[in-house]
Amino acid sequence: MTENAIEICGLRKTYRGSAKNGPKEALKGIDLAIPRGMIFGLLGPNGAGKSTIINILAGLVNKTSGQVRIWGFDQDVNPRQSRASIGVMPQEPNLDPFFTPRQSLEVQAGLYGVPPAQRKTDDILDLIGLTDKAGAYARTLSGGMRRRLLLGKALVHTPQILVLDEPTAGVDIELRNMLWANVRKLNEQGMTIILTTHYLEEAEAMCDEIAIINHGALVTRDTTANLLGRIDAKTMVIVPEAPALLPDLPQGVEGHRRDDGALIFTYRTTQVPAEAVLAAVRKAGIAIRDVKTEEANLEDVFLSLTAGAHATG
Ligand code: ADP
Ligand code: MG
Repeated sequence: MTENAIEICGLRKTYRGSAKNGPKEALKGIDLAIPRGMIFGLLGPNGAGKSTIINILAGLVNKTSGQVRIWGFDQDVNPRQSRASIGVMPQEPNLDPFFTPRQSLEVQAGLYGVPPAQRKTDDILDLIGLTDKAGAYARTLSGGMRRRLLLGKALVHTPQILVLDEPTAGVDIELRNMLWANVRKLNEQGMTIILTTHYLEEAEAMCDEIAIINHGALVTRDTTANLLGRIDAKTMVIVPEAPALLPDLPQGVEGHRRDDGALIFTYRTTQVPAEAVLAAVRKAGIAIRDVKTEEANLEDVFLSLTAGAHATG
């Protein structure tokens, strides 16, 4: 037995594609171990591959290659046990409009083989605040209520791991707070939580550790505190007089060359003075036509980290 909730090794996924679109390599060999008991964030821009990872964990998408262990069970060797260990709230709502919340939860429990005497339908309805709506058709529920019901469906078999795929994309503050309160409560009761988001503040508030993925590859994985340190950064954009390659950079500066030829440097102002970045550029003999600095956003940090990963790996 392992101490990890999830172990992903060399995970690859290539979607076959259609006549119009060719094959799409969505995951390019992901290695990731997620310890038990934490709230873990999978962060990355749209199209990074977050849902592909989640859907493979959930058994909804077949991986192309690699290994997935869920709560110590290899997905290919022990599919039943690995599936029983994880509950997934998907990004796309998949509710039957003619089921009531109570029926949805009962049907889902049946699919997971939970005997009627062991079902916790009433507790779950209470947790997600849908006791009053237990008998209403799903199609009459508000968007927020449907989201809550999706959370409830992920919990029917009392999984050790709960995975939430963009649970708060496009939801109002009230529902967001309720979802987070629920997630914290479940985590305090011992459930391992994995969530994906492209909202940095959300990851900051919720997660103990974060993995950033981009273009189907792991960019970095760190504690939230360390990562925010890196993201609490400045970006310097330098437009060179003539096309220029990236100069050698002092430690603590990450750089990439934009398609339009501008050189983009990300650094922490507390660790690296702007002058050190400029000096590196001058030392490389690059004449500067224009320079400006701006607060780094997550996108810049992604790009810099990705460029760094390519340069060294
Ligand atoms: P994220 O959840 O991080 O936004 P996804 O995992 O949904 O990213 O998608 C990763 C990449 O795989 C994207 O380029 C997306 O267009 C592509 N993709 C996702 N699902 C499919 C599919 N069923 N067929 C073809 N390509 C897909
Ligand atoms: Mg997604």
